[in-house]
Amino acid sequence: MNQTQIPQPRIAIVGSGPAGCYTAGFLRKRWPEAPIVLFDRLTTPYGLVRYGVAPDHLGTKGIAKQFDRLFARDRVEFRGGVEIGRDLGLDQLRAEYDIVVLATGLWADRSIDGFRDVEGNATHAGVHGSGELTRMINGHPDRDSENLVIGRNTVIVGNGNVAVDLVRLMLTDPGVLTGLDVPIDAINALHEGPVARIDVVGRSAADEAKFDPAMIRELGKLPDVRFTSDAVAVPGNGDRDATAKMAAIVELVEQSPVAATRSVNFHFGWTPDTLQGSERVASVIFRDTGGQRGQLVLETDSVCTAVGFTEVGDDVLLRSALEGEATNLERGMLAEGLYCVGWLRRGPVGTIPVNRADAKMVANAIINDVESSVATVAR
Ligand SMILES: Cc1cc2nc3c(=O)[nH]c(=O)nc-3n(C[C@H](O)[C@H](O)[C@H](O)COP(=O)(O)OP(=O)(O)OC[C@H]3O[C@@H](n4cnc5c(N)ncnc54)[C@H](O)[C@@H]3O)c2cc1C
Repeated sequence: MNQTQIPQPRIAIVGSGPAGCYTAGFLRKRWPEAPIVLFDRLTTPYGLVRYGVAPDHLGTKGIAKQFDRLFARDRVEFRGGVEIGRDLGLDQLRAEYDIVVLATGLWADRSIDGFRDVEGNATHAGVHGSGELTRMINGHPDRDSENLVIGRNTVIVGNGNVAVDLVRLMLTDPGVLTGLDVPIDAINALHEGPVARIDVVGRSAADEAKFDPAMIRELGKLPDVRFTSDAVAVPGNGDRDATAKMAAIVELVEQSPVAATRSVNFHFGWTPDTLQGSERVASVIFRDTGGQRGQLVLETDSVCTAVGFTEVGDDVLLRSALEGEATNLERGMLAEGLYCVGWLRRGPVGTIPVNRADAKMVANAIINDVESSVATVAR
């Protein structure tokens, strides 16, 4: 295709998180003159970079500066405060643009059976999802911190990086959090106790846990914290990743001060079972995932679930409702001219760099579809 045949389709991208921003960047590179508009339901862009990534991870937060160039230099237009499916219909958007890319992510906290009722509401006060907490810590406009108190003892369920973020932020000095622009209502909710004991409970064994060893090592910088763990090394498990995880936990425990006034206790191989307490949670019961050790009962003032994210039935843009005969999720296509990317396409797993690779793949599919249809017409 020569330069005069290159099309400049009108493009709308819904969602300005990493997936949406990277997609805009790749499409702009190919089509320098195409109108590209990034819509977001919030008035500020960047999705979980702004409202998920921990405020003390400044390097990761800094990706926002790279995305700023889309608007400042690359002539991508940002239209914030527009929720597609509510303020503007998806059909209307598709009529106005040649290409619509959905990059709306998955924001709802996945619930734990027995901790939520059938409608997904917490069965006891004092139970919070990690999305709810990290949005609060990052000053999300929809946060609801009223009556949210973590207390002196808390149980975090989950053993991924978000659980580790919560441990670190709960034990970070309030003055440091203020310096990181964490809003005062969030600091009060986290530190009113202040937190003295955190139990982190995961379903899998330590060497299969989802956290990165670097995140565990970072915890070692927190002052005045005793770390303990019930991790058991599996002899002969030579997997490098598993060995690194195990080593990080062992080193964290060994190097922590025995006489500290705060403690973090890692429990591996425990499956959440039930909550106890009249109205407000008072204790949590776990059962041994391997069926050998009976129960683990932890008294607590609050419970934080960090077990991932999901689609919710009343989301205005449900991917499952948009799938049809032409859908090919492998390349991000939902219907002719309609694509999806990022967490909405792949599910709520993967970091920001994974979304960059995803955006590149979907952008290439879009470019291929548009240019091959133009070439066919021109023939
Ligand atoms: C708590 C937490 C911490 C994390 N920390 C890290 C980290 O340190 N490093 C790392 O690499 N990754 C981290 N991640 C993962 C990373 O944030 C995700 O991989 C990434 O943000 C997913 O990108 P996305 O664009 O698919 O979705 P999102 O970032 O969720 O973006 C979706 C956007 O769509 C908008 N939107 C939704 N519905 C509509 C609608 N109907 N109309 C208009 N706009 C809409 C939303 O407002 C949002 O801006 C973290 C994730 C979480 C949850």
